[in-house]
Amino acid sequence: MYDAEHSWRQTLLTALAVVAAPIVGLNALLAFNTMTTAEREIDGVAKSTLAVVEQRIDAAATQLILLGLKGIQSCGSTDIERMHASEVAARFIAEIAVTDASGQLVCSGFGTPRVVRAVSPEHGTTSPDVTLSAVAIGSELPERMLRLLWRYPDGGGLRVLIANEELFPHFLRSRMTSGFIAEIELMNGGVLSRKLTSAGLSGRDSAPMLAISGAVVSQRYPLKVEVSAPGSALLDANVMPFVYANVGGLAFALFVTLVAVLVGRRTGGPIREIADGIRKGEFVPYYQPVIDITSGKILGCEVLVRWVKRDGRVVPPGRFISLAEASGEIFPMTVALMERARDDMAEVYASRPALKLGFNLFAGHFENLTIVDDVRRIFEPSRIRLSQLMLEVTERQPLPDIPRARLVIAKLQALGARVALDDVGTGHGGLSYLLKLGVDVMKMDKMFVDAIGTDRYSVAIVDSMVKLAEDMNLDLIAEGVETIEQVEYLRGKGVRMAQGYVFAPPLPARSFKDLVEAMSPQSRNRAGRSPADLPAQKASA
Ligand code: C2E
Ligand code: CA
Ligand code: CA
Repeated sequence: MYDAEHSWRQTLLTALAVVAAPIVGLNALLAFNTMTTAEREIDGVAKSTLAVVEQRIDAAATQLILLGLKGIQSCGSTDIERMHASEVAARFIAEIAVTDASGQLVCSGFGTPRVVRAVSPEHGTTSPDVTLSAVAIGSELPERMLRLLWRYPDGGGLRVLIANEELFPHFLRSRMTSGFIAEIELMNGGVLSRKLTSAGLSGRDSAPMLAISGAVVSQRYPLKVEVSAPGSALLDANVMPFVYANVGGLAFALFVTLVAVLVGRRTGGPIREIADGIRKGEFVPYYQPVIDITSGKILGCEVLVRWVKRDGRVVPPGRFISLAEASGEIFPMTVALMERARDDMAEVYASRPALKLGFNLFAGHFENLTIVDDVRRIFEPSRIRLSQLMLEVTERQPLPDIPRARLVIAKLQALGARVALDDVGTGHGGLSYLLKLGVDVMKMDKMFVDAIGTDRYSVAIVDSMVKLAEDMNLDLIAEGVETIEQVEYLRGKGVRMAQGYVFAPPLPARSFKDLVEAMSPQSRNRAGRSPADLPAQKASA
């Protein structure tokens, strides 16, 4: 395929890369940022939660020590009053009570007296008279509380209960962008309390890979605060930046594509480049001689297009013909080639009326009669006779509408032109094409010529093609003849016409004309004197 199409695809791929890379990068960056931000937030929340927990236990312990030092143990009215006073000092205290040596409740100085059950060992604290432990209240759905206990020498005691709920600071809910789970854990007492800051959270998360957590351990109490943000919560909280990034990326993609398309249009794009090339006369006919292998005479030529670029590069048709056909540029290109060939060859052909000038047409040319009008318009007034023209239709691509193609061929023949079926043996057409289309000439594909001297089967095909041409009364041209052996074999089989590198490659106009002049020098004079040529020469003068 043609270069520019490569660069076109490359442009598209580059545009895709330009777009995909930032989106992927941005997403990765956002994900990383989300993780590190969340990690920082979690550490911060865990630390400040622990600070509050410690402060509250400190405050409760201070009240307990004050009461204990005063020897509050009797449940008398003064003692009760003092206990009440403690409540004002530490509002989060749920109960202050006096217990006897066996640990049984004597009286409650503040709050509802509760029957408690220890659920952890008693841990010492910084004060030698105070211990800390976890207790449970109630049997069904037991509530957990933290118990600070002051012991008198006689075994009796004073206890303070703190509802675990009260240990969590109020700011907790508002501190983080994502929902999270905070837990306070007492050594050997399990989780005292758990706080979920968002209703959708549960202890177990569906995307544990993404979950992040942080923990801090108290230096004063056997406590640990652990905070974790499950993946789902992180995603929920951060989904908007991702949406913005991707929507933004896609908008950017559209923008880049649009710019690429506009720039592509400006600079042409491959089809536009072909159209420009046609306008500037860059599609040039080259001429490959067709030789009579029985006499060595030149019979004519086939026109093969070349794209001669401004820098002098000569691009072969394989690089642009299919794009020209697919885009319809082949129609003006064919017209331009015919006009150019007419001008190049007028002189040489006018004086040698037997020479044939062949053009390649494609399936699209056989869908309506435009080509018939073009051929007549270009050649009727010229010095090249319509009878000198040969139009080739390839068997490689199927003709979509055979009856219509038959009509176009008949009209071309009615003008006096001959029609050849090209690349015979390569396509799906075969014998039925030859019969239905009513062509005058068969061009045997190079593939079969190549097989000469190698493979018996293919040689048999050559033989049968020669026979077929004879039976159908068609001329046969062998294509792609490269060796003397092939020429000899073909000649031996009765093939008269051949084309190929063994004689000449496709030549620029000047070289082809020189070749004709050299191979049939007298015919010019003879033709010049021939009365048959005079009207044609006059007509175009
Ligand atoms: P094609 O019509 O079968 O033309 C014969 C191709 O074989 C030409 O290739 C010619 O240069 C090459 N050739 C001739 N003799 C030999 C040989 O001895 N050995 C080898 N290896 N190759 C040989 P080219 O010029 O590259 O053209 C390729 C194809 O492009 C043509 O195949 C034809 O289908 C298409 N094409 C060329 N010019 C035109 C045009 O003006 N219009 C259309 N529609 N198609 C064209
Ligand atoms: Ca051809
Ligand atoms: Ca061919």
